[in-house]
Amino acid sequence: MKRKLIYLLTLIVLLILGYFYISIDFTKTKATIYTNGTIITLEEDTPAAQAMLVENGIIKAIGTNKEINSLNSDNINVVDLDGATILPGFIDPHTHVALSAFLENMVDLSGFTHQTNQEVWAHLKKAVKTKKAGEWIVCKGIDPILVEDLIAPNLAFLDEIAPENPIILISQSLHTYWVNTKTFEKAGITKGTKNPSESSFYEKDSAGNLTGLIAEQKAFLPILEQMKKEVMTSKILINSTTKVLHEYAKNGNTTIVSAGITINDAKPLRLYEHLSTDKPSFINQLLATFGKLPQRTQNPRHFLYIRFDKAFLLPKEKKENDFYNIIGVKHWYDGSPYTGSMYLEEPYMVSNLTQEGLHIPKGYSGKPLINHDDLVSFIKEYHTKGWQLAIHTQGDIANRKVLQAYDEVDKQVDINESRHRIEHCVLLSEASLDKMKELNISPSFHTNHLYYYGKALKNDIIGEERANKILPVGSAQAKGIIYSMHTDQPMFESKPFRLIQTAVERQTKEGDTLGFNQRISILNGIKAMTINAAWQIHMEDKIGSLKKGKYADFIVLDKNPLKIPSSQLENIKIIKTVINGNVVE
Ligand SMILES: [Zn+2]
Repeated sequence: MKRKLIYLLTLIVLLILGYFYISIDFTKTKATIYTNGTIITLEEDTPAAQAMLVENGIIKAIGTNKEINSLNSDNINVVDLDGATILPGFIDPHTHVALSAFLENMVDLSGFTHQTNQEVWAHLKKAVKTKKAGEWIVCKGIDPILVEDLIAPNLAFLDEIAPENPIILISQSLHTYWVNTKTFEKAGITKGTKNPSESSFYEKDSAGNLTGLIAEQKAFLPILEQMKKEVMTSKILINSTTKVLHEYAKNGNTTIVSAGITINDAKPLRLYEHLSTDKPSFINQLLATFGKLPQRTQNPRHFLYIRFDKAFLLPKEKKENDFYNIIGVKHWYDGSPYTGSMYLEEPYMVSNLTQEGLHIPKGYSGKPLINHDDLVSFIKEYHTKGWQLAIHTQGDIANRKVLQAYDEVDKQVDINESRHRIEHCVLLSEASLDKMKELNISPSFHTNHLYYYGKALKNDIIGEERANKILPVGSAQAKGIIYSMHTDQPMFESKPFRLIQTAVERQTKEGDTLGFNQRISILNGIKAMTINAAWQIHMEDKIGSLKKGKYADFIVLDKNPLKIPSSQLENIKIIKTVINGNVVE
């Protein structure tokens, strides 16, 4: 009886807590005047303003200090910007929240933070010292391209470093894993375990013993299952998702787009739903599990392209939600330049890196992941069901073929209004750009390739001639194509000004210039990550520029990006991110 009473009381407390939580209407905020600033609106007819009145998440008025200050009354907050610059909040139109959360707590061994082989392993050894015996050590970012002298690890090496701990190293490309004996034991993998497929396997030496290398995800799955039980519990994943979403906002992103989430991955999906909408039953369930909940108002708007899945072949529901929504379907046509899976007209270069580091066979030029007829029927089926499509396409022949498929569908049903997308566009010919313009297909450029991997692309992977043609952002601009740019976090950190600087300067991190004639202006770089990205997701009437009636999603900067040399762009500080009128703390 007593136990029942306690249970009942707990339930009542939780319900009350839940009620209070959901009764906070996060769209209602006190009216605020932002005055005395330099506001870059990105609106053609009124590109500049000094002040704004924001109420309940919406820009109520925007104009000169005099115009807006005259609207002041007792109930209004006033924020003096003291000359600071305001920009519309950035929209990262292709990122991976779930994957970023998965990698969030891992030991970073990447080439972004380490220069040499010695640094990488010294960092790992230091990390091992902080762990208790038996504790998992999961590391990310192993990269033979950025860490040029990297010596790949193996089982014996990892056993020596961490004899008492299960250890996992994940490559930067996410295609290769290395583990030690303890990890194999945990997952029940022995030298007798069957390889899931020819391309996904447990590598063995000439004596038939495991080397510690695991190729591709299928073979890694038993380890992943074990990780989910011990190190990647849903509680940990929810915490890291919260952290990751907050980082996106702090980096100036007021809207993000997850490109390719699995529909079966219900937990993160439901979490995002909670973080963005009112779902009392789920909120109560989370409260019961976690006690305290992350603040929804601190998170960017979040839209999703669901990973292509036959089971999900449903017509799109007309569900309006400006905080969280599934907006389209993602497919992959080819792979990555750094695994040999980018599909090229001409083969990869034969170099030490492609042969020894990346194991790309001589004369290989990649291949498509889906045959032509299947691609055509995919596009037609999903387009007809009302979904917008985003197709991962990197190589020159890949882009040509995907556009050919779009074109074939367009001859049967008009696809012009859907703004279907092509993602990454590393090698995209002028003819392909013309086809895009004709079909109203919109590219999203993976511009950071040039800065981080430009040197390797030029010297070792595709050669100078092709490297000078990568990411033809300037040509897209000249042809009047609406394009966006993205960071593809966790591949690169979601820092928009770094990306814009690369598109403006076309410089690798070593300072070499690739494709000088493909430079764009700073203003066009900003548009690519604000109003153009909004257009790509059919939200240009609500976000992406600052105008009366649009959402109050903006960032406050310490410098005016239009008044500084391009080399200073990446140093701009985001003083404040405001989402739906709420300042992100
Ligand atoms: Zn991606």
